[in-house]
Amino acid sequence: MRRPPRSAPRNSAAPGSEGQYGVAAQLPAVPVAGAAGPPLRIGALGEHHLAPGRYVYTGSARRHPRARLERHLGLRPRRLRWHVDYLLTHPDCQVVDVCLVAIEECALNARQGGRIAIPGFGASDCQAGCGAHLRYLGAGVAPLAGG
Ligand SMILES: [Zn+2]
Repeated sequence: MRRPPRSAPRNSAAPGSEGQYGVAAQLPAVPVAGAAGPPLRIGALGEHHLAPGRYVYTGSARRHPRARLERHLGLRPRRLRWHVDYLLTHPDCQVVDVCLVAIEECALNARQGGRIAIPGFGASDCQAGCGAHLRYLGAGVAPLAGG
C-alpha cells in the first residue's frame, strides 16, 4: 500500500466522543483491480473483482479508534484480520482520506452514497441493515462525507 498524503488522521470529533471512522481508498484504472484483472481475495467473502475508482469504508473501534486508523493506514503492524485489511494491503490501493467522527458508524456509511461494493464487506456485526460498510463511489473523486 502506498502511504497516504497525511501522516496522521484528522479528527473532526469532540475529544472523547470519537470511535467511528471512514477510510477513502482509490484503486487505479489499470492494471490489477479492474474487471479484466485478477480478483482480490477478501477473506471469507472469497474473490471479487473490484472496479477501478473510489471506495469508502466505514468502521468503528470502541477503544483506541486512532490506533485502529493508524493500523489501517499501515502505520502499525497488522495481519489480515478485517475485510478492509485485504483491500488496504493491496499494493495498488491508495488511501486518499481518513476521518474520525462522532456520528454512528452506519449513519456515516449511509452518508457516503454510491453503491455496495461487496455484499457483507465490513458489516458482520451491523444491526442497521447496511448490507456492507464498503461503498463504491465510482471512478470520479469525491471527498469523505464526514460528520
Ligand atoms: Zn451498518
